Amino acid sequence: MNNTLAIEVGADGIALLTIDVPGRPMNVFTPELIDSLGKAVEQVAADDAIIGAIITSAKQSSFLAGADLKDLGEAFERGITAQQASEFSQSLSKLLRRLETCGKPFVAAINGLALGGGLELCLACHRRILSSDVKAVIGLPEVKVGLLPGAGGTQRLPRLIGIPAALPLLLKGKTLQPSEAYAQGLVHEVFSPEQLIGRARHWLLNSPTAVQPWDRKGYKIPGGAGPLASHAPVSFTVGVAQMTGTTQHNDPAPLAILSSVYEGTIVDIDTGLRIESKYFGKLLSGSVARNMIRTLFINKTAIDKLVNRPSDAPTRTVTRLGVIGAGMMGAGIANVAAQAGVNVVLIDATVEQAEKGKADIAALLARDIKRGRLTQESVNARLARINATNDYAQLKGCELVVEAVFEDRTVKANVTRQVEAQLDDNAVFASNTSTLPITGLAQASIRPERFIGMHFFSPVERMPLVEVIIGEKTSDQTVAWAMDFIAQLRKTPILVRDSPGFFTSRVIMNFLHEGMKMVEEGVLPAMVENAARQAGFPAGPLAVADEVSLSLMQAILKAQDADNLPERYRLRTGRKVIDRMVDQLKRPGRRAKAGFYEYPEQGAKFLWPGLSDAYPVAADQPSVASLKERFLTIMALETARCQEEGVIINAMDADIGSILGIGYPAWTGGVLSYIQTIGVKTFVERCHALAALHGARFEPTQTLVQQAV
Ligand code: NAD
Repeated sequence: MNNTLAIEVGADGIALLTIDVPGRPMNVFTPELIDSLGKAVEQVAADDAIIGAIITSAKQSSFLAGADLKDLGEAFERGITAQQASEFSQSLSKLLRRLETCGKPFVAAINGLALGGGLELCLACHRRILSSDVKAVIGLPEVKVGLLPGAGGTQRLPRLIGIPAALPLLLKGKTLQPSEAYAQGLVHEVFSPEQLIGRARHWLLNSPTAVQPWDRKGYKIPGGAGPLASHAPVSFTVGVAQMTGTTQHNDPAPLAILSSVYEGTIVDIDTGLRIESKYFGKLLSGSVARNMIRTLFINKTAIDKLVNRPSDAPTRTVTRLGVIGAGMMGAGIANVAAQAGVNVVLIDATVEQAEKGKADIAALLARDIKRGRLTQESVNARLARINATNDYAQLKGCELVVEAVFEDRTVKANVTRQVEAQLDDNAVFASNTSTLPITGLAQASIRPERFIGMHFFSPVERMPLVEVIIGEKTSDQTVAWAMDFIAQLRKTPILVRDSPGFFTSRVIMNFLHEGMKMVEEGVLPAMVENAARQAGFPAGPLAVADEVSLSLMQAILKAQDADNLPERYRLRTGRKVIDRMVDQLKRPGRRAKAGFYEYPEQGAKFLWPGLSDAYPVAADQPSVASLKERFLTIMALETARCQEEGVIINAMDADIGSILGIGYPAWTGGVLSYIQTIGVKTFVERCHALAALHGARFEPTQTLVQQAV
């Protein structure tokens, strides 16, 4: 037996199986572990001296994190077929089925986190005793990476707790704290970590059973299964409609989960497990799971661990942060920093304005107290860390200052000078500008090597991404410290080089302009919005343009003209529509309660009916598919341009930034994964075809053309 699983048989006849996959911070299902577990089950079954077994892990606070996602993510690259993937799932299912039917009782002593396959192993055990450690979370999060639990999760969980309770856990992939796991019936007992093995022995010696509920005669799924179950209309009919609405058929996992549960629970468990494997095979051999695993798990984990950070630069924790501008962004940044335990000096032009920013934070947190998410004490402690003032001298001792004042070069230059007068040589000055090139802003700085862009997204509290922009003179140490701070906030930093609009703003502008161009062409505005949502964007381009505000978009274009920017940065696609909406039609966006949408005092916004007078709807409407392709392609193409220009340094940053920052659909794996998935050659052909129909903005880049041969 290899060294992933130790077996120790005690004098009481209890076998203690301890998982410890070497070289891994957390246990995962490696081929060696699967092999060892199979042999261990046979040993327990065959040895008359063994009365039962306990499965636990040697890793602190971690039982088993599930499948090796890196390996699963590469399965697509290896060209795995649905049949092979299904057989892989079946092999694991058969092993766990053997475990639960071998005649000897098994207890899972879950000493820490048990996710995915880790929880599925526990569900196959006859008893589950969970550690009360808050890190001992359990759940089936496969859906978040385009998969379903393929080792019995979609079969045992519904049989254990009933379909209505199991479906939300399977479809949302939510992890449960020990108390929640107990309350929902996923585990039998919760004990402190030291007591787990003792409790497991106690059960094995006193009241063991080696038969699972679903293998007992007369067993019925709690709440019933099949079309006649009273919950069926909600669980399945409404469930399918809801999931179709959410996924728009882009991500096949949620519907596969519903099918697996529905079909698998009206038959015996062995047949159910085969049904599950069939759906798992389809998902794992498809591109969506590969894309989601690679971008949202493997690459995001790497980026969160700061793979792109200049490695030899010393690290630094920010203890005192300055934030200049207590408006929407500044207040948000101050709030998340104080949440992370950082003392914040929040400055605005007047004390009243600074206090207003702090009051906005307090109001937001009060809502969280009301909803039971935060306690009054924690909020008091957080607010006490924020010092609202207009006194720049308070900035002394700050390791980092983030500027979030008006998007105006002169205002920003003045602030830079005032701030730098107070800072140590090693303190970093970061601008939260969304569009102004960092190198230009750094001209106001007397220490441009300590000047950097740190582009947060709105609302700061909810958006996980920060785009770090390296100016011409920004030093590696400054980049490293900026990234350290973002990690301190538990946000995800992507790293890009300076250029007008950087990466995210530049690419999302293409989405918005493309939508406006469609309106100008006479495409039904509702169809424009729906096509974007059907492609998987969280909102349509017209709704987003209203949020950003058309007048701001116009101001950016005017500033680009004034700066005489090279033509390739000046987006013209939707410009005529922007100018007309702002100047003639006086509909600058949501703040003015008038944009592409109407914003009534009561009720939901709706598309402005006058739009069809301003832009008459064409008699011939394009297909929804063609509109979806335009959105996905124009953003991917602009990213390819960013990559060619060196704005994008690492492809993974572009993929993650596009999903977490600007709503590019997750099923694609991000802007560059989209190109890779359909193939560069096909992408280039599609670009040529779109260019012939819609204009030169769709012409592929030289690099893409070269790669396509
Ligand atoms: P805002 O208008 O809500 O806030 C700006 C704040 O700066 C105001 O409170 C203002 O009083 C203060 N201010 C102005 N001049 C000042 C000075 N000389 N000294 C001190 N304070 C001063 O603006 P916002 O939306 O928070 O944007 C701030 C910055 O963040 C801009 O550069 C913007 O481009 C950028 N940004 C905005 C968003 C967004 O979605 N709003 C997203 C990313 C980045």
